[in-house]
Amino acid sequence: MSLQNSPVQTGVDFERNGKQIDYLRIPHSRNDSAWGGLMVPIVVVKNGTGPTLLLVGGNHGGEYEGPVALNKLVQRLQPEAVQGRVIILPALNLPAVLAGRRLSPIDGKDMNRVFPGRANGTATEIIAHYVHEAILPLSDAVVDLHAGGYSLDLAPYISMHYLDDPQQMAATRATLEAFQAPYALIMEEFSGEGLLDYAVESMGKIFLCAELGGAGRLSADTLRHTEVGVDNVLKHLGIVEGEIESCTDRGLPPMQLMEVPDPENYHTVLTPGVYESFYEIGDRVARDQPLGQVHALQYPGRAPLPVVAQRSGLLLGRRGPGFVEVGDTVALIGRAKEPAGSADSAQLR
Ligand SMILES: [Zn+2]
Repeated sequence: MSLQNSPVQTGVDFERNGKQIDYLRIPHSRNDSAWGGLMVPIVVVKNGTGPTLLLVGGNHGGEYEGPVALNKLVQRLQPEAVQGRVIILPALNLPAVLAGRRLSPIDGKDMNRVFPGRANGTATEIIAHYVHEAILPLSDAVVDLHAGGYSLDLAPYISMHYLDDPQQMAATRATLEAFQAPYALIMEEFSGEGLLDYAVESMGKIFLCAELGGAGRLSADTLRHTEVGVDNVLKHLGIVEGEIESCTDRGLPPMQLMEVPDPENYHTVLTPGVYESFYEIGDRVARDQPLGQVHALQYPGRAPLPVVAQRSGLLLGRRGPGFVEVGDTVALIGRAKEPAGSADSAQLR
C-alpha cells in the first residue's frame, strides 16, 4: 500500500469491529475556505472474520439508486448480523453527487476514468487513489452501483466483463447470478482505461457493475432492484445470513442473461437534432431495421435521419433527453446469451 503521499485523512479503523460512520477528508482549498476539505462519507460494518465487500454509490452524480440504497443499508445493517466486513462509499465522487452531475464540478473529471488516481492530483484523482491504494486491497468483491444519469435510460441490469482467469470468471459469474436484477449482462470491455472495473478486475477480485435505471429519476422499482441485489450479494458471499431473493420471488420473470459482445451493439447518431426512438426499453429489435430517427426541428422539409439497428436483440438502453449531438449514444442492444459451447457463442469469442 503506497499511502504515504496521500493527503486523505480518515478516522475509520478498517480492522475495528462494529459500525463506524465517518469521512474521507480530502483537502480542498478555495476562496471561501483556505483550509477547507471535502468530506466523502465512508461506513465500515465489521464483525469477526470473513469476506470484505465494498459497495460503491455515486461514482457519478445524477445516478440516485446507489446512494439512496446504500444510505438505507447504513441505517439497517447491524454488526451483529455481519460475518466479515462491509465497506460502504455511498457518494464516491461527492462534489458530483451533490451537484447532480456526472462529472465533478471541482475539476471536471469523471471518477470512472481516473483510476488508479494520483496522490497529488485533483480532488477526483485523490479520492480514486485512496480507494485504489487503501480500500481495494482489503476487498474481496466490489459492487459499483450506477444508473444512466441524465443522458441515458437503461434497463435495470447487473453486469460483468468477460475475464481471462477462469476461476475469477466463475466466481464473478456466480455473484452476478446472485444479484437477481431483471437483466444480467456479460460484456466485452472496449475501453477499460481508468475504470474502477478494470482496477478491481486486474487485482483478481470479483467486480460487478449495476446499471439500475436512469434518465435522472429515482423510481420505486429500480431502487427496490438495487436494495434486493445488494442484500443478495451480501448473502451470496456469506456476510449476512438468509436466502437469495430471486426475480420470481418478487413476481418478476426470471433474470434474463444477456451479452453485449462487441461495439456494434452501441448506436451513435451522426447528426444533431431530436431523437425519436421507435422502441421502449426491453423491446425486441431486428438488425437492419430502424431503431429511431433524428429530426432537425428547424428544417421541416428535411427527412429525418434514421438510426438503423446493427444487431438483433433487446433494447437495453436508449438516450434519455430528446436533444442529441453528433456522437451521442442513443441505443444499446443486448442479445440473449447462448448456452456455452454453441456455435453461436463460439463465434462471439
Ligand atoms: Zn455511472
